[in-house]
Amino acid sequence: MAEIMEAHSLTGKKCKSCGFEATDPVVSCTNCGSEEVEVKTFSGKGKVYTYTVVHVGFGHLAPKAPYVLAVVELEEGAKTMSIIEGEYQGKPVTESIAIDMPVLFDRTETSTGFIFKPA
Ligand SMILES: [Zn+2]
Repeated sequence: MAEIMEAHSLTGKKCKSCGFEATDPVVSCTNCGSEEVEVKTFSGKGKVYTYTVVHVGFGHLAPKAPYVLAVVELEEGAKTMSIIEGEYQGKPVTESIAIDMPVLFDRTETSTGFIFKPA
């Protein structure tokens, strides 16, 4: 069984020049191009900005299907692509997912990316 590396804090970068924040592991700011970026740890709180329910996954994600692929807008304002897992209001998120649903960062899986759960 393959070992899955997990990280339990959501980190990204903050630009020292313009203040732009992103969860991507960038080496320079995608907003202004400055290389003066520092590590930023996000609170992990956010809401669903947009989503799609994936019924047939691809590659390593296939066993997870159906799953919710969503763009989460963090309370800091940065948007990040993630998978939402868990239950919301007693139903699996694949049935209960909604725009503006509050979510909380759960973990990072190396092969999958960010995973959020209903808050
Ligand atoms: Zn910048």
